[in-house]
Amino acid sequence: MNVPMADLRAQHRRIRAEIDAAIGEVLDKGSYILGENVSLLEKEIAAYTGVRHGLGVASGTDALLLAMAALDIGEGDEVVTTAFTFVATIEMITALRAVPVFADIDPVTFNLDPSSLAAKITPRTKAIIPVHLYGQVADMKAVGETARKHSLFIIEDAAQAIGASLNGRRAGAFGHAAALSFYPTKNLGGCGDGGMVLTDDEYIAERVRLLRFHGSGGTYLYRYRGFNSRLDEMQAAILRVKMRYLDLWNERRRANAALYRDLLADIDPAILSLPAEAPGGQHIYHQFTLRCARRDDLKAYLQSQGSGSAVFYPLPLHLQDAYRYLGCREGDFPESERAAREVLSIPVYPEMERSQVEAVAQAIRRFAKGE
Ligand SMILES: *Cc1c(COP(=O)(O)O)cnc(C)c1O
Repeated sequence: MNVPMADLRAQHRRIRAEIDAAIGEVLDKGSYILGENVSLLEKEIAAYTGVRHGLGVASGTDALLLAMAALDIGEGDEVVTTAFTFVATIEMITALRAVPVFADIDPVTFNLDPSSLAAKITPRTKAIIPVHLYGQVADMKAVGETARKHSLFIIEDAAQAIGASLNGRRAGAFGHAAALSFYPTKNLGGCGDGGMVLTDDEYIAERVRLLRFHGSGGTYLYRYRGFNSRLDEMQAAILRVKMRYLDLWNERRRANAALYRDLLADIDPAILSLPAEAPGGQHIYHQFTLRCARRDDLKAYLQSQGSGSAVFYPLPLHLQDAYRYLGCREGDFPESERAAREVLSIPVYPEMERSQVEAVAQAIRRFAKGE
């Protein structure tokens, strides 16, 4: 078999004519910055998510930055988030000279553990960033209760979770603001970088609108110290085509996940366990992530059989060299550390053929049975 972790060329082949037409229209029009495709995509994604405002920005990382900047998060403020996430989640906290504070994860969902989160709140805490890791919404009821109790902002990192929901509400519609990423391999991916801030709040929307354009409140007049962080018109045109397929693609990912569950149902969970779906949630399987004590052996075996796999993420953030200065140590977040040793994501992308899912599952079965 030959199964990669993602196949962007297979995705493109199916929609090439529509993408070519969309790009052609942008070129014919010659309007490249904050044009009509950006504002239409903002409206479409805001409506899809169930919030009032979407603001296209240059990346998911910048969406986090601008959402925090709009809330005046800065020097000395603490922002609590998970130690087991992509680095971008904390990078922009430090860019604003605020302090990332880690909490541990729930070992079943890989998302913020509510009791660890509650224990990390101090008088300096200003915001919480729950991450909907792998495409599953975090326990937003618990996060919301902690935030309300201490009057904190919630900024969702929904970079991996567009279309995921919990009790009928979509990722991105729980917090004061949320960040989406359109990185090419995300469930809604552009042909380059892109991101979006989502919010229901008029004030946050207006501030992000100004901050992404140098803080400008009029032609060559600047109300805030801002940034240059816009979503390209070309990317927006491409993303509007792909947006029409998002639900279908997410359903295909869910169908692949369901097939894996069928084919791997009888494997001893002590050897290898499958990802759990939280009650009331709709997981969109940005990643389908196994846990396996012999993870590195499984990864090598899959590679020898022609299947890709990937480790998201091999080292939790509190143990990364760049963030040693925060003073954390090994043992501080045991579930994040164990997850980093045990997780392995296997291919689940929408264009997979049934036979490919079956071949990957068969290889995993052979490994688990020691053949
Ligand atoms: C992809 C990702 C980001 C950052 O998105 P970019 O568009 O690559 O800047 C942030 N957080 C998480 C959890 C992500 O997976």
